[in-house]
Amino acid sequence: MSRRIVAIGECMVELAPRDEPGTFAMGFAGDTMNTAWYLARLLPQDWAVDYFTAVGTDALSQRMVDFLGDAGIGAASIRRIDDRTVGLYMIELRDGERSFSYWRGESAARLLAADAAALDAGLDGAEVAYFSGITLAILSPEDRTRLVAALARFRSAGGTVVFDPNLRPKLWASSAAMCEAVTAAAGVADIALPSFDDEARWFSDADPEATARRYHAAGVKTVVVKNGAADVVVLDGDTAPVHFAVPPAERVVDTTAAGDSFSAGYLAARLKGRSPVEAARSAHRIAAVVIQHRGAVIPREAMAGVLEAESR
Ligand code: ADP
Repeated sequence: MSRRIVAIGECMVELAPRDEPGTFAMGFAGDTMNTAWYLARLLPQDWAVDYFTAVGTDALSQRMVDFLGDAGIGAASIRRIDDRTVGLYMIELRDGERSFSYWRGESAARLLAADAAALDAGLDGAEVAYFSGITLAILSPEDRTRLVAALARFRSAGGTVVFDPNLRPKLWASSAAMCEAVTAAAGVADIALPSFDDEARWFSDADPEATARRYHAAGVKTVVVKNGAADVVVLDGDTAPVHFAVPPAERVVDTTAAGDSFSAGYLAARLKGRSPVEAARSAHRIAAVVIQHRGAVIPREAMAGVLEAESR
């Protein structure tokens, strides 16, 4: 039987500008789905990568499910909700600057944790569950509690829970509500992968080590703090934190999914038996390639190069 990891969250329709003005290319993206996409490529064949979310029963929702299937991501436990559809965002380019418009207020994914039995069924038999602060942000307070409780049950039954706090204050009623919910959710996580710039802003951490120690105090065993082009900090259990400088990227084209691909790289390396520090180095090598390409998911040839380098 294959080993299984489940990512939980919202995948959205993406409309990205094409060269011809006023025309857009349609794709699918979302933080936890991006991580699942990279995991499906990085993990060995004996691993199954599943996505847990909710979609509608309309044609666009079906296209999203088909996209996941084509990407090698299992979609069997996705909930279908009759009178809802998937969320959408549009990227606009003005003078080289990207701006985003979102339509997700009524997206089906907001109901992904409305049913405890469906959550338990989605996690059944998995070894690892991955979720983010965006997963939490789109839920009602009751559903958020239900999701965290399901993850706690999963963990007590021996599962590993992994959390990327991905702080997005615009999705929350207030920044205080965000900080409170993120800290509570960290209490059920074994591994957290926060990004220092967000954490410093919303939790007033003085430096990445303070971020790592705060998540550690909230109950997380291993914390890996991402920090753009600056040092990554790895705090594992009670050992001293390890800092390492990330080699500068040759060129930075688009940092979309840098953190999401980093998370996938980290997890894939850990699940292949690497130490937390080795896994974080591998994660950085992958993110460093991802930022040299446009969009959340990189072209097939670029991914093939990553896989070859990481298998050495
Ligand atoms: P997020 O996308 O979650 O905000 P970061 O911007 O911190 O995350 O980036 C995640 C990881 O991607 C970093 O820890 C680093 O490994 C890599 N990375 C991002 N930007 C750069 C950069 N300019 N140069 C080198 N590596 C980078």
